[in-house]
This record gives sequence, structure tokens and C-alpha cells, in this order.
Amino acid sequence: MSGTTSEPPVGSATNWAGNITFSAGKPHLPASLDELRGLVAGSRQVRVLGSGHSFNRIADTDPDGTLLSLAALPPSVDIDTRARTVRVAGGVRYAELARRIHAHGLALPNMASLPHISVAGSVATGTHGSGDANQPLSTAVSAVELITADGTSRTLRRGDDGFDGAVVALGALGVVTALTLDLVPGFEASQHVFTELPLAGLDFAAVTSAAYSVSLFTDWRGPRFTQVWLKQRAGRPVDFPWAPPATAPHHPVPGMPAANCTEQLGVPGPWHERLPHFRPEFTPSSGAELQSEYLLPREHALDALHALDALRATIAPVLQVCEVRTVAADSQWLSPAYDRDTVAFHFTWVPDAAAVLPVVSRVEERLAPFAPRPHWGKVFTTAPAELRSRYPRLGAFAALADSLDPSGKFRNSFVRGVLTG
Ligand SMILES: Cc1cc2nc3c(=O)[nH]c(=O)nc-3n(C[C@H](O)[C@H](O)[C@H](O)COP(=O)(O)OP(=O)(O)OC[C@H]3O[C@@H](n4cnc5c(N)ncnc54)[C@H](O)[C@@H]3O)c2cc1C
Repeated sequence: MSGTTSEPPVGSATNWAGNITFSAGKPHLPASLDELRGLVAGSRQVRVLGSGHSFNRIADTDPDGTLLSLAALPPSVDIDTRARTVRVAGGVRYAELARRIHAHGLALPNMASLPHISVAGSVATGTHGSGDANQPLSTAVSAVELITADGTSRTLRRGDDGFDGAVVALGALGVVTALTLDLVPGFEASQHVFTELPLAGLDFAAVTSAAYSVSLFTDWRGPRFTQVWLKQRAGRPVDFPWAPPATAPHHPVPGMPAANCTEQLGVPGPWHERLPHFRPEFTPSSGAELQSEYLLPREHALDALHALDALRATIAPVLQVCEVRTVAADSQWLSPAYDRDTVAFHFTWVPDAAAVLPVVSRVEERLAPFAPRPHWGKVFTTAPAELRSRYPRLGAFAALADSLDPSGKFRNSFVRGVLTG
């Protein structure tokens, strides 16, 4: 999957990575809100699939459940330029949203590494980009419109009781039919890649504060970062004395074509063509992979890097690339960045679960002293009891889920595991 994008078709019975086949087969594709309401009211159990970019069973149903996709509903994007907000339908992806808001001179503060993902599915799992001061994408959301278990509509707005549990909600509260997001004035950015940054002597805080968004990549085949990507807002200096600049465009995954990536070499351009690493019309990342990611308090960044360095010989054989990013703390109950400025350790593994899972467990053992929170949409083996201990507001989230969905219609085994073990 190295050239132009080869996404599974809308309505596929597998996730993007192909490692999950959905228990109920292909999703239903309601074409109107009335049809959607009818499906929800008439089903014993319901889960909604976004763009299918998660790597675990978070979006799956029980075998007799109903899997829904919103991809056939009108992809509305309603922009209020004066209020600087956008109301976006539940099935819309970031690529389309970004194109539309850019045309109005507005922007999102940050994006993930790829724009192919749906907005509702991304914020449901706490998806993030990078940047010391950049919070997860979910923090832009100011209102969530839901169809709840009996088919009726509910809106939760920032400031309402329970709102802090309503965005990063793992699909457990209802069908998100629309989200309202805060926007910022449009801006230009440029992207600069540096190579071969040694781990020895690393001043982590200085490196990650060197630009608006910083990503460090390594294949763990040596105690160094192979690439450092700096995304800087136009007009601000780029000063990176610790490693030499790249003289040609790079792809972070060894052997993959740089043409799949957003423009580099310091050429300024619109925010949505620089903040993601990958272009919307190309396959993101390597396309044949599994992913894991662990988010932990930023003050442990160097200790955690050295813990992983000690495991290099185990990690490297099943790794395509590891990416280290920073994320600012937020107040959303199930956000992996809840209440702590965060460093995120991401792993793009080879697509071989049998070989990867034992290594995932070893990584989790090594990072355990730092109380890592796994990315909700990626592969992890952390026990539910341990997960629960890392989310101080999980009880409040469970109460919110009970109040909106007393019969548990929107819970699958993944969510039941998180809530009750
Ligand atoms: C190549 C690649 C790169 C990635 N890069 C990043 C990155 O840079 N940063 C990062 O944090 N993550 C990253 N991810 C992970 C990805 O952002 C998350 O898995 C995200 O949740 C995917 O969104 P989705 O629309 O595909 O959601 P899905 O996987 O389809 O669903 C995720 C969850 O959202 C729920 N959901 C989806 N839509 C709705 C709805 N309308 N109503 C209710 N519930 C809904 C589902 O039920 C499920 O629980 C990457 C993934 C891939 C494949």
C-alpha cells in the first residue's frame, strides 16, 4: 500500500489495517436521520464505525449487534465565520473538514498525523497531534449531538454537567450525529526535517519546545532519532542546533516514498497541508502495520526513553518506526492526556500480531512505572483494572453512560472491559 491511497471501501467488514473483521459483518449505511433513529431504536446493541482507523475491537459490536456507518448521511459542514465555529456531521473526515474551513480563512489548532480519519471517531478515542502547548483534537469540541438508545436526540454543550465525559466517549453514549468545533484564524506553517539526533545528552524539553509541533522518530536500531520533524508557524524562527537539516524530503517509515508526505524543506503553506505528516490522497504511514501508543506524564520523558532504549534489541525486529510527541494536558475524563502534560510514545509495528503482542507486553512492563495510558484506538494488553486505576474520573464517566444509556445498548466488550473489568 505505498502509492495513492488504497482505503477499504466505505461499508467494508474490516478495519483499515485489516487486522479486525467486524463481528456483525459490513456496517449498515442509513441514508437519513429517520432511518438511523429507526435502526438504533430497533436494535438490541449498536456501535458506530467511523473511518475504521483503529487497530483494536473498540468499534466492534457483539455478534448479534448492529454496526452502523454514517458515511451515507449528508456530509454537512456548517461554518459560522463570525463565531469562528463549525458544526460538522458525524461521518465527515478531517481532510474534507480542513479543506472547507481553510476556504473560509479559518483553521483547526492542530491535526493528527493523517487527515483520512473521521472527526467523530478521532475525538472519541482522544486522538492527538504534537506540540508542547497543543491539546488533543477533542478539546476543540464545544457541543456533541447524540442519538441515544431510544432513538431520541440529546445535545451536550461545554459547561453542561457531564460534558467532560461526552467527547472522548469511546462510542459508549450514543450515535454522534454532529459536533461543533472551535476554530482559530487561518495560518501558514512550514515543515523542517532534521536527521540523526543522538539520545545521549538529549535536552528533551528544549527539543520539543523548538517549534509549534515536534515529532521525533526512531527505528530503535541505535540510541538516536533517525528524524525530527518540526512544524513551525510562519514568521517564527526555526533554530535547531542539535542535528543536521535534511536536504531532501523524507518519509518517517524507512523505505516508504516521501511523495506520500506533506511538503517539507521549510516551504510555507496552509496549516492543513503541513500539520498532518501524510497527504490525504496517499496511503498514510506504511499501510501494512499495527500500531500501539502510550501516553505518560511529560516529566518522565527521558527516563521512559532510556527504558525503551534498554529494550531496543526486542523492539527493533518488529518495529517499522517509533514516534515521540508531546501533548498538553486537558480536562476530558477519558482523555489519555487528562490532567497531565504528556509525552506520547507511538509504535508502528510490522503487521504480525503473533510477533508483535509479546513485544507490546514487554514495552508495557518497561513503561509501567510511569503510569502510561494506552491510546484507546491502538493495540494494547494493559489489564482493565490497571487501566481503570489510570483514569481518576472513570467512575463519573460510567455514571454518565448509565444515565444516557441505562440498558448498555452502546457498550461492546471493549467498553464493558474498561468500565467493569
Ligand atoms: C495510519 C494511522 C495514523 C494514525 N495517526 C494518529 C495520530 O497521529 N494521533 C493519534 O492520536 N491517533 C492516530 N491514529 C489513530 C486514530 O486516530 C484513531 O484510531 C481514531 O479513533 C480513528 O478514527 P476513526 O474515525 O477511524 O474511528 P474508528 O476506528 O472507526 O472508531 C473509533 C471509535 O469511535 C467511535 N465512533 C466513530 N464514529 C462515531 C460516531 N459518529 N458516533 C459514536 N461513536 C463513533 C467508534 O464506535 C469507536 O469506538 C492513527 C491511525 C492510523 C491508521
